[in-house]
Amino acid sequence: MNEKENNKMDKIVSLCKRRGFVFQGSEIYGGLRGTWDLGPLGVALNNNLKREWWKMFVDGREDMYGLDASILMNGKVWDASGHTGAGFCDPLVEDTETGERYRADHLLKDAGHEADGLSLEEIDAIIVDNKIVSPNGNPLSPARQFNLMFESRIGATAGDEGRVYLRPETAQGIFVNFKNVVDTMSPKMPFGIAQIGKAFRNEIAPREFLFRVREFEQMEIEYFIKEAAWKDEFEKLRGDIKKWHTHLGLSEDNIREYEVPDNDLAHYSKRTIDFEYNYPGKGFDELCGFAYRTDHDLKNHMEASGVSMEYIEPDGSRYVPHVLEPSFGIGRAITAVLCEAYTEDEMNGDVRTYLKLPKHLAPNRVAVSPLLKNKPELVEKAREVFTMLKTEFGNVAWDDNGNVGKRYRRQDEIGTPHCIVIDFDTLGQEAPEHTDTVTVRDRDTGEQERVAISDLIQKLK
Ligand code: ATP
Repeated sequence: MNEKENNKMDKIVSLCKRRGFVFQGSEIYGGLRGTWDLGPLGVALNNNLKREWWKMFVDGREDMYGLDASILMNGKVWDASGHTGAGFCDPLVEDTETGERYRADHLLKDAGHEADGLSLEEIDAIIVDNKIVSPNGNPLSPARQFNLMFESRIGATAGDEGRVYLRPETAQGIFVNFKNVVDTMSPKMPFGIAQIGKAFRNEIAPREFLFRVREFEQMEIEYFIKEAAWKDEFEKLRGDIKKWHTHLGLSEDNIREYEVPDNDLAHYSKRTIDFEYNYPGKGFDELCGFAYRTDHDLKNHMEASGVSMEYIEPDGSRYVPHVLEPSFGIGRAITAVLCEAYTEDEMNGDVRTYLKLPKHLAPNRVAVSPLLKNKPELVEKAREVFTMLKTEFGNVAWDDNGNVGKRYRRQDEIGTPHCIVIDFDTLGQEAPEHTDTVTVRDRDTGEQERVAISDLIQKLK
């Protein structure tokens, strides 16, 4: 990857910090690896993204039902799903001098070796044969399996009963509520259950900003189908995922579909596609996953809990549905959106940085300011316009810091699509034909036009 691309990522991370999108977690105590906090603009972007997803995948359809399950679940859920076993482990090696821990598969990949689906013995053999050492140049320990779930205990309960985990995915909350949703909503096949929520993974090596963290948010759907229909339904949902990426403003060139080869598929999956984004400085890597998981999960829960997970058709026929799972990580989506939006150009002889965010994602839909903040008549009129727009759009910023040029630069950098300035023309003190009009400046072109206050809402929409 070239230096310019690396630089771009550094600039985005620094902009996120400087402008209040993303802060290091527990920063004043030196941070906590693998955690990040969303600042005022980050939480606005995050909420906009989740709202758009819910609109597209839940409210915009008749075949989806929402859910919000608990993060803490009965420990038996994770036994049945296979997460407490070897299936949810990553191979770990230690630097024998410093004790630092690494993902063995990542070290192998960095050294140019295929690393997916290898046994611990195979990993050890490649490390020895190729004299692979830690990034510090020290010998590595033999590989061992490391389970990624954070474990805790409930209250004062002793033994297995009190064992709980922070959920490593939201999906299992959906499976264990399958019967509840069927019984209460009587959905017709095929249908989906969607959920947005936090997930936790004790990643061995959190890295690359929001890309691999220990606490993150997921937006997941389990889409229940008849087995015979899986190929058709797979194609339809695949198309919906592509539409979602277009809605995020991600260009087709920066998205790639990676068809997971048969020998790498989880044993229960018949087909998995990873949608990858071309992250600057990193190249293509997973953005979200889309898997056909057969009837594996529902069957496991049926067996372990003794509760039927069968769906009964109006004609009385019954079967355990198969399932398609689109699984989106919000942090990776936000990173992709920021990378796509980050733009540098030249304006008035200066290098200008701006975020070309789609209107529906921008933290501020529009910013309003009086030309001068020490002229009460300008401030009063600007306040009127601000209140009108805020009532309509909600996320409208009041900005009277510094001069107008500085305000434009700041709003450009946080991706505000339009800035509105109330000046003496608005008050009818200069050109009478401009009375009750304001200047609307476009973020991307820097062009300004005068718009009547009465036309503003329509214009911005
Ligand atoms: P990877 O191979 O990169 O570890 P994964 O295949 O384990 O990811 P899934 O289990 O398919 O990931 O999880 C679904 C989605 O959740 C991923 O596509 C990603 O967007 C997000 N995700 C998973 N792990 C993390 C993490 N540690 N940090 C941020 N997002 C994550």
